Amino acid sequence: MNEHDSERIAGLLTAEGYVPTEEAAEAEVVVLNTCAIRENADNRLYGQLGHLRPLKMANPRMRIVVAGCLAQKDRGLIQRRAPWVDVVVGTHALPSLLELIRRAEAEGPQMDVREYTEVFPSALPAVRGDRHRAWVSVSVGCDNRCSFCIVPLVRGPQRSRPLGEVLAEVQGLAASGVVEVTLLGQNVNTYGRDLTVPGSGSRSRFAELLRAVDGVERLRRIRFTSPHPHDFTPDVIDAIAACERVCEHIHFPLQSGSDRILRAMRRSYRSERYLSWVRRIRDSIPGIAFSTDIIVGFPGETEEDFRGTLRVVEEARFDSAYTFQYSPRPGTAAASFDDQVPKEVVQERFDRLVALQESISLERNRACEGRIVEVLVEGTGRKGGVQGRTRTNKVVHFEGDAAPGQFLDVAIERAHPHHLSGHPVPTAERDGLALAAAE
Ligand code: SAM
Ligand code: SF4
Repeated sequence: MNEHDSERIAGLLTAEGYVPTEEAAEAEVVVLNTCAIRENADNRLYGQLGHLRPLKMANPRMRIVVAGCLAQKDRGLIQRRAPWVDVVVGTHALPSLLELIRRAEAEGPQMDVREYTEVFPSALPAVRGDRHRAWVSVSVGCDNRCSFCIVPLVRGPQRSRPLGEVLAEVQGLAASGVVEVTLLGQNVNTYGRDLTVPGSGSRSRFAELLRAVDGVERLRRIRFTSPHPHDFTPDVIDAIAACERVCEHIHFPLQSGSDRILRAMRRSYRSERYLSWVRRIRDSIPGIAFSTDIIVGFPGETEEDFRGTLRVVEEARFDSAYTFQYSPRPGTAAASFDDQVPKEVVQERFDRLVALQESISLERNRACEGRIVEVLVEGTGRKGGVQGRTRTNKVVHFEGDAAPGQFLDVAIERAHPHHLSGHPVPTAERDGLALAAAE
């Protein structure tokens, strides 16, 4: 979500004639686009602002902007703690960014933390680091109230973009050479609940959206994030199975494997229901990969609750997981629960969960050894060589020459917990393998 907004911030500034610089000291405008999901983001903002202060004193033309969820959350506090900040622009006010910068020049510090999105950030110009892959927002905000989560407080209630608007954006992207889009929403399953399709009286739904986007020519891959297990529906499975361009990967946030903790989190599904969706999705879409989000150390989590999480992880066999230590967020219900788990207990459980998941990720990746997979090249990997991604969202490294945006078939030689390595092969070999498997 933040990367998507950062692309729009860069787009607005570029359209105004600004060019990027590598040197903060030279900048006329510095924008810090912030995240509030966990506490360390707060600490980092004020640390960064401290570093920028002497640069601004040496370069009085510099304008410092704080954007994003922390701007929405901290509002006036930012300019009280760091009076050298020129503009605070909240999550709903991005379209006003340039106007706020102009006004700050003439009138001094500005702030716009309005509470309602009138113009979707997706309607703004974008500058993308990657010409072949793009984020496409299908909705902003969230109507749930998970007790740990600050998103509804800083992004407001869910607002869906009309299907035609999303489709037009994807068509435009495909025409400009984008081959992969990721549809973004906090709860994609409830996409369209707040929209009525004009004339039809019916409601637009996520499965319909997937089918519509799947019809966009020249697009090769469609991803989406995230479906909420409570609102998952069979028609989404059918759409994923039927749509050729929709990739065989699903990010399916678990949060906890303990039903007691799920209840306290206000996640209205239970572990057995979650696992039954995993089984059903696997049965309907062969080869689909799963990733998830898990929080360790939610208030009141006992060793028994945590073992419940380990049990579900064992059973679900996720390909990968984002694991988080619970971080109390101001204004959320769980922040005031009095049974917070001591830091060292959280760390010890977290390490056990990571070790278990790494062994499962390795096992899942080993199943790819000896297979030939389609890889979309993303660029250069950290250790040199080429980095790309499979349809199942697994990172692949290989030696050779390949340009970002190119599709290659890669024979997988070795699995690691977080990536695969192999070598490119002519497409005919993959077809041969498929033929041999069929025989
Ligand atoms: N809408 C998505 C869902 O319902 O699963 C989640 C979006 S949230 C931006 C991304 C992830 O951050 C969550 O799935 C959760 O695991 C994690 N997260 C959110 N609040 C957290 C907190 N207070 N402490 C630790 N992790 C948190
Ligand atoms: Fe936060 Fe996701 Fe829950 Fe919404 S559904 S409150 S974004 S965790």
